[in-house]
Amino acid sequence: MKTGHFLTTLLLVTALAGPAGAAPAPQPSESTARPSWSWPLSPRPAVVRPFDPPPEPWLSGHRGADLQAAADGAPVTSPADGVVSFVGVVVDRPVITVDHGGGLRSSFEPVRSTLHQGDPVTQGQELGVLEPGHCGQLPCVHWGVRRGEEYVDPLPFIMDLRPSVLLPLEGPP
Ligand SMILES: [Zn+2]
Repeated sequence: MKTGHFLTTLLLVTALAGPAGAAPAPQPSESTARPSWSWPLSPRPAVVRPFDPPPEPWLSGHRGADLQAAADGAPVTSPADGVVSFVGVVVDRPVITVDHGGGLRSSFEPVRSTLHQGDPVTQGQELGVLEPGHCGQLPCVHWGVRRGEEYVDPLPFIMDLRPSVLLPLEGPP
């Protein structure tokens, strides 16, 4: 009897505390997961071709996002702090990879770099210069992000994805 009453009270308290306690929870978790990376090109690039992962790992797809550059030879910058983990040519394309820690790595191609494996880089630091060819005539950089060995969409890591056309041009006085 007593135990039953206690349990009922406990359930009631839990039920009452549940919604109230759960309501503010999304707020902190959203802010801790807030993206903090910056665009690897300036001015802010257009996305020429989005991330389009293949349905199966062995099929073809687009394992990164293509960003339009102002011109070939444009500087490509690190979207976040990290350490250069690879600089070299893959097949016929110059590639630089930055390890951001936490299992996350960014790769950029075709980018010619004078950095070396092990070099620390900071957010916004120039990694190298864009070479032509990834988007035909259009100057563009291919940005791939891996979490572990899995390719993920780079764009959610960017801190501000609001379309620039929606930014207020003239606010109320
Ligand atoms: Zn691409």
